[in-house]
Amino acid sequence: MRKKLAAGNWKMNGLQSSLGEIAALAEMIGQPNCDVLLCTPATLINSAAQIADKSAINIGAQDCHANETGAHTGEISADMIVDAGGKYVILGHSERRADHGETDSCVRDKTRAAWAAGLTAIVCVGETLEQRDASNTLDIIGGQLATSIPDKATAETLVVAYEPVWAIGTGLTPTLDQIGEVHDFIRARLERRFGEGVGRSVRVLYGGSMNPKNAAEIATVSNVDGGLVGGASLKAADFAQIVDALS
Ligand code: 13P
Repeated sequence: MRKKLAAGNWKMNGLQSSLGEIAALAEMIGQPNCDVLLCTPATLINSAAQIADKSAINIGAQDCHANETGAHTGEISADMIVDAGGKYVILGHSERRADHGETDSCVRDKTRAAWAAGLTAIVCVGETLEQRDASNTLDIIGGQLATSIPDKATAETLVVAYEPVWAIGTGLTPTLDQIGEVHDFIRARLERRFGEGVGRSVRVLYGGSMNPKNAAEIATVSNVDGGLVGGASLKAADFAQIVDALS
């Protein structure tokens, strides 16, 4: 049985003054029946991890470099995330694919680096509206999965997030049938590639305009093992309701 994961992606939001939301969230959720994660901006990881220590909340990052160290001005390595107290890293988010030209093979290299440092990688896949309208959704996602995920994935090191690009920050969500179709497809691909044991135990999250109102319903869809939540993870009161819906 896969334990659900409520993961928040703060994106480029959050100052020191936002850390109170983490303490408030810890207080509101207590010890829930799902795993809880907040991926803060890099500047907040260390303080967030200290605040979240001994609570149900894990802290993670939103990207890492593929190399361990070196002359890469402005970049952050997977070891640095671990050093700061992070346990997870989001990789291949569509905003990084779009804004920074990240390719599937670049995401695969970053995932390898994350694993070498001991992080769990949340690898994101998802189609644009044009790709969906052209009935290419499953082809696109199949290709992203094949190339973005390195060999030797395990349930402890890999989480997959299905984030339709057109649903991110738009208030639009796919129908439950559409979500189910993609999640079943991802599950089948994971089982085919990594075998039934691993393939059935890797968690597959849904992301894209998940909120306190729709989280419980989306969580009923087969092979949805939680959510990767942007806007609604910023306020403790909203995210606590999502944690509750996924518990
Ligand atoms: P929203 O929940 O704001 O749509 O963002 C989803 C997302 O991109 C999470 O990574």
